[in-house]
Amino acid sequence: MGQHWLLSSKVKDMSLLDIAELTENQAFEYFCVQRWGSADNQICPQCGVIDSHYSRKNRRQWRCKHCDRYFSVTTNTVWADRKLPFKKMLFILFLFTSSPNGISASDLSRKAGVAYKTAWVFCHKLREAIYRSTDEAKYTGEIHIDGGHFGGKPRSGRFRNKAKPEAIADKIKLGKTQRAKRSRSSMANLARKKRNRRIVMVLREVVPGYGGVRTRCFLSRAEDEATARLIADQCIEPGSLVRTDESSAYISYAADFIHQTVEHSKEYSTLEGVNNNQAESYFSRLRRSEYGVFHRMMARYMIDYANEMAWREDHRRESEEQRLRDLLAKSTSIGLARWWRGYWQGIRRRNERLCSEC
Ligand SMILES: [Zn+2]
Repeated sequence: MGQHWLLSSKVKDMSLLDIAELTENQAFEYFCVQRWGSADNQICPQCGVIDSHYSRKNRRQWRCKHCDRYFSVTTNTVWADRKLPFKKMLFILFLFTSSPNGISASDLSRKAGVAYKTAWVFCHKLREAIYRSTDEAKYTGEIHIDGGHFGGKPRSGRFRNKAKPEAIADKIKLGKTQRAKRSRSSMANLARKKRNRRIVMVLREVVPGYGGVRTRCFLSRAEDEATARLIADQCIEPGSLVRTDESSAYISYAADFIHQTVEHSKEYSTLEGVNNNQAESYFSRLRRSEYGVFHRMMARYMIDYANEMAWREDHRRESEEQRLRDLLAKSTSIGLARWWRGYWQGIRRRNERLCSEC
């Protein structure tokens, strides 16, 4: 068996030390090269002319030779109006891209020496860049689909929850069809679960022998037929091979696709090799990040975290610098941040972006 990709030397083409050794000017040039492909020519964000525009070196700005507009390397990107130095931004970007299961804003704020809110908004701008540059071309070939429940984890309270003998006797007396009366704490837990629990639906285009290559996710309140249909119509080319578990939500897929199912109550893969393990592998990463890194995901922002993990899954076999470059390219090509610009001034995204409302 070959060496694991993450242990190979190819993956280690950039480290935190490399960024620490850069000067502020070199970090600035890194941004310029990533955005415009060169440190000498710039593209005016107003008129789009590529030229060596008039430089205002002290302010790290240019004046367009054609339309006279002043601009900088972050104009019209999610980093517009930034206050952080370029070196620190690269440092935070690297910490974000090199963490396999994500990094929490509080951890980032301590490592980079910035305020918690700065780290929080920075990470969410990156998540927005990932979200808004999703490849929307329809999926073909082999596709794995599944839904996973996230958020709304019950709290255990002060006592260990051991079933009391009276409660067990009650259950036996009532039989399977009737439920024993819930305690006040379990009622509160049920309400919390109903309020905060959401379904993350995931689709992965799979190349046999390699694994998932493209991933899209959607947020929903239930894993039902309507949601499954909506996602299929939006994302899958008719005639593709779709693999799911035995859930009744996917019952209508047989009409348009080659639909194969695996019965998860019995097995993870059939003898013929039918499975949806690439969807499960995505959930494994999202579950680990929920439990081990973020601890709590608000329903309002859950889709942003889900998309971040989709990006991590799709770029799992890239080197450190390739991942950083990819995210830098995404964050400088989608224009201004829609959901996070003005966060400091009190502007907040109110809706939670369910797939039925998008
Ligand atoms: Zn111009």
